[in-house]
Amino acid sequence: MKNTQLPRRQFLKIGGIALAMIPVMVVSGQSNAATNASMRTSLKYQAKPEDGKSCVQCMHFKPGTSAKALGSCNIIPGDTEISPHGYCIAWAKKS
Ligand code: SF4
Repeated sequence: MKNTQLPRRQFLKIGGIALAMIPVMVVSGQSNAATNASMRTSLKYQAKPEDGKSCVQCMHFKPGTSAKALGSCNIIPGDTEISPHGYCIAWAKKS
């Protein structure tokens, strides 16, 4: 019968690599901010208001953790850095 168990040395090596990866995964999990450059360009997104209109007043805006924090937008997928003071041509007044 063939021994299918990993040799102790190989087991410890794999375990060490797995433990070393934990901090990397934690750090990368904390910085999950992202932008969607192509959609921003298409919609002429800017990080400042236009004619008194801003993202925080828009029906598509999803606020961040506080009133001043960056949020996201329902029509710009994958972008988590939308400024509450930003604006784009898809702006629609929040009801
Ligand atoms: Fe801001 Fe435009 Fe999204 Fe409205 S649609 S939240 S104005 S980026």
